[in-house]
Formats: sequence, C-alpha cells, structure tokens
Amino acid sequence: MVGKIQLMRTLTPSDHVVVVGAGLAGWRFIEAVRRDGYLGAITLVGEEPHLPYDRPPLSKQVLSGKWDVEKTSLATSELVSQHEVSLRLGVAATALDVATTTVHLADGDMLGATHVVIATGSRARTMKFSAGDLVHTLRTRDDVRSLDTVLSTLRDAERVAVIGGGFIGAEAATALQARGLVPIVLEAAPRPLINILGAEVSSWVEGLSARVGIDLRNDQNIADVVALDDGLVILMRDGSSLSVGAVIAGVGAQVNDEWLATSGLTIDNGVVVDENLLAAPRVAALGDVARFMWNGPLGRELVRIEHWQVANDHAAHLARYWISGVAPEARLVPYFWSDQYGKKIQMLGHPRADDEVVMVAGSIDEEKWLALYSREGVVTGVVALSQPRALMLSKRLLDETTALEVALAEEPWAR
Ligand SMILES: Cc1cc2nc3c(=O)[nH]c(=O)nc-3n(C[C@H](O)[C@H](O)[C@H](O)COP(=O)(O)OP(=O)(O)OC[C@H]3O[C@@H](n4cnc5c(N)ncnc54)[C@H](O)[C@@H]3O)c2cc1C
Repeated sequence: MVGKIQLMRTLTPSDHVVVVGAGLAGWRFIEAVRRDGYLGAITLVGEEPHLPYDRPPLSKQVLSGKWDVEKTSLATSELVSQHEVSLRLGVAATALDVATTTVHLADGDMLGATHVVIATGSRARTMKFSAGDLVHTLRTRDDVRSLDTVLSTLRDAERVAVIGGGFIGAEAATALQARGLVPIVLEAAPRPLINILGAEVSSWVEGLSARVGIDLRNDQNIADVVALDDGLVILMRDGSSLSVGAVIAGVGAQVNDEWLATSGLTIDNGVVVDENLLAAPRVAALGDVARFMWNGPLGRELVRIEHWQVANDHAAHLARYWISGVAPEARLVPYFWSDQYGKKIQMLGHPRADDEVVMVAGSIDEEKWLALYSREGVVTGVVALSQPRALMLSKRLLDETTALEVALAEEPWAR
C-alpha cells in the first residue's frame, strides 16, 4: 500500500510545470490544467520528434490505409501556442531530481520546475530474432510509417505473419486483410486473450477470426525469424517453417520507467503513486506509466492500466487536484475498447482472468453479448461484444460497489 501524499499547495501563476512524455496523458493534462485556469509556465518534453498524437487509430484506420497518419494528431502548432506551451521534442528525459524538481535531458540540458508530471507511457515489447528490425512493432507513428513502406512493396494476397493474437495483433490482422494481404496470426497461448479475458470469454471471442477468414494459429512456439533475399521465414520449434512477406510482433508493452531509476521514487512495474497520482508532493505520474492506488469495487489496490480512457481520466483528475486542492470524488471506472476482426469489444472495470463470468444478454451465435465478471459476489467488470449501449447502461454497476445478485435483479443493460 502507498500512503496518501500530502499536497503542499495548489498551482499558482509563478509555477513551472514540466510534463515529461508528449503522448496522450501528457497532452490531455496540459489541456485540462489550462481549462481549469492555470496561468503559469508549462514545458512539454517528448522523446519522439512529433507533436502529441493518438495511438489507437494506428493499428486500425492508419494501418488499413483508411487514414493518413497525420489524422491522428492530438495537438497542432496552433493548439500548442494557444496553450502557451514550450516544447522540447526529440529529446528524452534521462533523470529526475525529486528534491529540486529538476528534469535532466539527454542533450545535457536541465529543466528547473516547480512541478513535474511523468507521462512517459510504455513502448512495444520486442522479441530477439535473427531478422532484427525486420520484425516490426506497432506503437509509434514512425513504426507505422516504416511498416507501411514494407507492406507497399508486397504483392496482392501476400502472407504477413502477426506474432501475438491479443488486441493489437487482432487489429493488425484485420487492417492487413483490408489492405488485400493475407495475415496469419501466431499465438503462443492455447487461445488468444485467455490471460486477459479469462478462459470463458476468450473462448467466445476466438471464433471471430474464422468468421472473417483470418488464419489464427494457437500454441505457436517460434524459434527464430530469419531474413532471406525474397522475404522472411519463421522457424517454429516443432521444425516447421512459414514463409511470409513481412512480420509484425504485437506481444505487449513495456513501461517506460527506467529513466527514473536514480530518482528515489518507488518504481515497481511503473511509478507507484497514490490515489491522486502523486509520487511526491510536487511530482505526479499519469497514464500507462502510473501504478496507481485505485479504489476498486473490492477496495484499494495498486494497478497499472494501459487504456486510452484511463490516461484521459488521470489527466483530468490531476489537473483538478493541483488547481483546486480538492480531489474529484467519482470512482475511476477503467474503460477499454478494441476492434476484433470487424467486431467491437468493450470492457468496463478491471476484472481478473480468474473472476467468475456470467453472460447476461445476447449469445455467441448472434455475435452480440454482454457478460458480468464478479469476485466474492461483487461485480468487477462488464464486457460486451457489439452491445455499446447496454455496456454504458451497465456502468453504474461499477460506479458504486454492486453485489452480483443486485445486478442480476436490476438488469441495467436491458433498459
Ligand atoms: C497501436 C495501439 C492501439 C491502441 N488501441 C487502443 C484501444 O483501442 N483502446 C484503448 O483503450 N487503448 C488503446 N491503446 C492504448 C493507448 O493508446 C494507451 O493507453 C495510451 O497511449 C497511453 O497514453 P500515455 O500518454 O500514458 O503513453 P504513450 O501514448 O506511450 O505516450 C508516452 C510518450 O512519452 C514519450 N517518452 C517515453 N520515454 C520518454 C522520456 N524518457 N523522455 C521523454 N519522453 C518520453 C514516448 O515517446 C511517448 O510519446 C492502443 C495503443 C497502441 C500502441
């Protein structure tokens, strides 16, 4: 457990907030703190050379060729000047001195701040294969640009391997198919998403790939990926091999917290922060990088959640807290969505894979359903396939702690 950190004072116009990480959480914090009335200085530090942009469309509209990558922009130069933000892009932060709230940069510069927001997110997990960088990842604009260059050289209906059948893998496969390529999804587990959605719900989702004619192979044990003159070969541990035109690895993310190793902050699978996202009185962490004290349906627990909506909610919470000194009271209800082989899956809450599951609406055959997760008789999550309205009607089951039997009696999804 982390104790609550005392807020020393609210922001004043003479403050200087340095936001490290020019992604979703960092930019949303800047928007929120300006909206809430902060008049002081803001500096935004980003390792990537780009202005803040959104990642979810990268594996959906951008990879499929429907959107130009520029359409993912969250901030334009005009918005940056409207928000009076000084930019330090293309340079990574390398260390943080918490006592003096000084951020050290890779180019040797030091930024003296009164408050620091850590929003360095996560990066794509990579796998070590002989083909090296020819195994593409899907996290940044630059990743998608280099992948697009390779995919553009492939013949129509050429095979592309997608390593990992999780959310990103399924989205990548769907986008490749939309481009006229033939994706083959190689999943290491007995079934995709089993460790996230649990045995039952993952089995309901499994059939979706076959429905759209995408070849999904479970229990795949890859020994190496080797580059040849005319493509790549995937060597499996069972001795078989697969020739493909390109390979994408969608095997999860790794938190960007290494730069804080000497800071003295508690770093343990992310930056450990309290319920108001504070790691120290004038240092906070938001979004993917934050391991925060969440007041969930079964009490307080430390969680790190890589969801778009959580980054937004964190940004709004911290801005309000630092401006007013009053913590927003509403419980954060994590929300996630993903496009799975042409269907939308949505989840509320933060259930565990071994929670109990009950389908309460729809059926697998209809490819429309809604299910509740529960633990110790309390609702811990709601998951839905192609039932967006019913899912949102069910949110109140998580806004307050709700017994499963009360949820089943009230059926808010059916209203
Ligand atoms: C392809 C893709 C699809 C996704 N789809 C969905 C979806 O459908 N639904 C959903 O809920 N979520 C989705 N997500 C997850 C969602 O995008 C993330 O949860 C969100 O981006 C988190 O925002 P963040 O600002 O915390 O981190 P990030 O977006 O990772 O931003 C962090 C930024 O900090 C920078 N940085 C890192 N280290 C340093 C350093 N030392 N110094 C300076 N800068 C640094 C990084 O370069 C990056 O720009 C998707 C993610 C990806 C990659």
